[in-house]
Amino acid sequence: MLIVVNDPAYVERELAEGRLRCPRCQGELRPWGHARGRVLRGATKQIELHPRRARCGSCRVTSVLLPDVCLSRRVDEVAVIGRALLEKAAGAGHRRIATRLGRPAETVRGWLRRFSSRAAPIQAHFHHWALALDPRLETITPQGSPLAEALEAIGLAARAAGLVFGPRAAWSWVSAMTAGALLANTNSPFPSPR
Ligand SMILES: [Zn+2]
Repeated sequence: MLIVVNDPAYVERELAEGRLRCPRCQGELRPWGHARGRVLRGATKQIELHPRRARCGSCRVTSVLLPDVCLSRRVDEVAVIGRALLEKAAGAGHRRIATRLGRPAETVRGWLRRFSSRAAPIQAHFHHWALALDPRLETITPQGSPLAEALEAIGLAARAAGLVFGPRAAWSWVSAMTAGALLANTNSPFPSPR
C-alpha cells in the first residue's frame, strides 16, 4: 500500500510519468487496474473511494494507492480520528468525543488507546520529521502527557511539511508520514525522511 495525494487526476499523471515509487524497493510503479472500492466515513458525509492499483516494474509486487485522507484498515477519515485525538488532549473522555463525532464509543476508545499506547514512538517519529524538514526547530516544549507531546510533534511536522512541500491538510501529512500506519497494530516501521 502506498499513501498518495487525494487527487485522482494528479495521481494518474504521476503514475503515467513514472514518478511514483514502490514502497518496498523504490522501483517505478506502473498502472495495474483498480483495487476494490470502499466507503470512507468523513466528518459529515461518506466518501466513495476507488483506489488505483499499481505494480512495481522491478519487484513486480502490486500496491494499492490509498489517498491520504485514509489510514490503513480504518473506515473513518484520518481528520476525524485526528479530531478525536485533539479533543482527548483537551481533556474530553471517549464517550463525549464519540457523541460529538457521531461515532460508536468503542470505536473512539480504540483509536485513543492505540494512539496512547504508541505515543512515545509516534512523538519521536514526528519530531524526527519536523527536524529533518526544518533544522531551525529545536526541542519540543513539554505538554504534560505523552499524548499531548505526540500531538505537538505532529503539529510541528505537518507545519514544516506544508512550508517545504506546499499545502496539504494536516492530518493528510500524518497519513503520508506514517504510510497510513498511524494506528496500525503491527510494529511496522514508519517511513523516515529521505
Ligand atoms: Zn518494488
